[in-house]
Amino acid sequence: MCQHKFDQKDLRICVAVRKRPLNKREIAKKDNDVITIPNKDHCLVHVPKSKVDLTKYLDNQTFKFDYTFDERASNDLVYRYTAAPLIDTIFNGGNATVFAYGQTGSGKTFTMGGDVSSAKTDYSHGIYAQTARDIFHRLSLPQHRSSVEIFVTFYEIYCGKVFDLLNNKKRLRVLEDQKGLVQVCDRKEQQVKSVQDVLNIIQHGMSIRTSGTTAANSNSSRSHAILQITLKTSTPISVHTNVSASSSSSSSSRSNNHNNPAIPRRIVKEVGKMSLIDLAGSERGKDTASGDRLQRMEGSEINKSLLALKECIRALGRGDGSHVPFRGSTLTKVLRDSFIGDKSKVCMIAMVSPTHSDVENTMNTLRYADRVK
Ligand code: ADP
Ligand code: MG
Repeated sequence: MCQHKFDQKDLRICVAVRKRPLNKREIAKKDNDVITIPNKDHCLVHVPKSKVDLTKYLDNQTFKFDYTFDERASNDLVYRYTAAPLIDTIFNGGNATVFAYGQTGSGKTFTMGGDVSSAKTDYSHGIYAQTARDIFHRLSLPQHRSSVEIFVTFYEIYCGKVFDLLNNKKRLRVLEDQKGLVQVCDRKEQQVKSVQDVLNIIQHGMSIRTSGTTAANSNSSRSHAILQITLKTSTPISVHTNVSASSSSSSSSRSNNHNNPAIPRRIVKEVGKMSLIDLAGSERGKDTASGDRLQRMEGSEINKSLLALKECIRALGRGDGSHVPFRGSTLTKVLRDSFIGDKSKVCMIAMVSPTHSDVENTMNTLRYADRVK
């Protein structure tokens, strides 16, 4: 494998574009493929002149990204260049975050969760599963410290509210303390001991994410799903250790049984975190203009969070400790850790549909991805 962009020391943000293949319906309708990926870092949008309002689109617009994947790219290939290099980041004590961005139907869930639409449901090649596999592989290596334990949380944000996908979509509160530390209260955090444990969580979470909604107005396209895999160490502490001083080193540190010397006390410390986010559909238009009140609210919440997200990623990219406007949305609030700190890295994968009829959304996606850096 060639050197990855994240191998450059100061690079904090990587932006990739993935084009999905035409589907059967689009082929039957003779909807043209207007997106060309001429090489591994360029994306060309070719809009036939006769069909377009030239004041809005120029013919043959070219965009350049860190990586571009055409319709033949497998999930394995996409994983290798996007999330895989971030495994190092989390084992080095950093926060790594991967976003799947794009309009509904562009391939976000396919990329993150795997192929779940057909009868042969297959989660094993999605970024969720491949990340889990690489983490457990790393832990199995002889040179690795065996004290690391792995925990998973899985929740979604719909209309600015947080729901636990590991606990029957229980509504969760988001609190910020005086130091600006953000907590999602009472979310279920499950310890996992194998890749299969993670696959079970993904399968369960994804099924409750989509059920309970009609196909026509799928809740899953209107919500952000956040899967977090956290590495923690747990160290026994001696009776004379100053507990409060040690706990302040980590927001999630806690000691058990202060007053009971019979039970060993432990400091649990978060040492790295991978956040994998399947964002809500980025399409604009009829939701905000002519939809009903709920649709308008959903649409404006999504717009707000995606705009806030762009600003937070840009602030991380500047790398000068400048203000991160994370309070702009619930999404950026709960992901605050992703945008701060010297060791945080973000990868954005912008998904695009190949068709002419989707070109307006595709252009918006490419412009958004272009401005993230
Ligand atoms: P989104 O989550 O962005 O709404 P999905 O991931 O559900 O979109 O993809 C929409 C449809 O396209 C699904 O049937 C999915 O299986 C298919 N699809 C998406 N990306 C690809 C791809 N790269 N290769 C093959 N099929 C794909
Ligand atoms: Mg989806």
